[in-house]
Amino acid sequence: MRLEGKVALITGAASGIGRQTALLLASEGARIAGVDVSSEANEETATMVREAGGDIIALQADISKAGDCERMVAATEEHFGKLDVLFNNAGVMLSEDGDAESTDERVWDLTMAINVKGVFFGCKYGIPAMRRAGGGSIINTASFVALVGAATPQLAYTASKGAVLSMTRELAVIHARENIRVNALCPGPLRTELLMKFLDTEEKRNRRLVHVPMGRFGEADEMAKAVLYLASDDSSYVTGTEFMVDGGLTAAYVTPE
Ligand code: NAD
Repeated sequence: MRLEGKVALITGAASGIGRQTALLLASEGARIAGVDVSSEANEETATMVREAGGDIIALQADISKAGDCERMVAATEEHFGKLDVLFNNAGVMLSEDGDAESTDERVWDLTMAINVKGVFFGCKYGIPAMRRAGGGSIINTASFVALVGAATPQLAYTASKGAVLSMTRELAVIHARENIRVNALCPGPLRTELLMKFLDTEEKRNRRLVHVPMGRFGEADEMAKAVLYLASDDSSYVTGTEFMVDGGLTAAYVTPE
């Protein structure tokens, strides 16, 4: 077991990448604090993890609120005694997000509040806990759109993921000597609810796939495997990276048929 004795807090655990990661990390021995704003679906994740033999608590929190993030970290330490792995994964891609002209301020502010401030709050309260544990691993979910322009406009989302990436680099540098590693996971386009809701026509989906050399969307469990690597000591000399798991998208200019 690659995470025996470790405690991992996962935000966005009710769905997609977060749910698959909760299942995988638990199967590798980690005790999990699964956090989500949606408590019903989050309880479902907890049930799935327990049925597979894992140890998990489900916590309700809105990561855009400082008090909620402080409480989620405190509850994790209280229940499991420490925090070793922090997966700042929850995020939104709002359907009204578009180009500079069409995106209104409310969409911009909400995207930034969850995708950027949520990661900041996770670190603000998670880092002291991790320091108390003698170190740990933080993984922040960014996106391939932090590195290349998206084919379908989603300006607020793209900007938010750029911020996650640059925050990750600085955090990695600042906390390296405290035995706290910080990496960004950069998923390519995935077949999860978040993206399929946004790419809601065959035409939009095909337009996105043109840019993926593998010619398919990624799966949430393929992201979970990358998180397992970044969370475990297998990646002990890895910090500050933008870890691409994108079917080759960012390596491509044009894609052969
Ligand atoms: P998802 O929609 O399946 O899951 C996201 C989860 O975050 C949901 O359970 C949702 O309830 C939760 N959440 C949303 N707002 C929250 C808040 N304020 N507080 C707490 N929880 C909140 O999406 P996913 O595809 O699993 O996405 C996970 C992460 O991966 C996101 O950061 C997303 O931006 C990123 N990502 C996704 C893709 C993709 O193609 N799906 C690509 C690149 C990056």
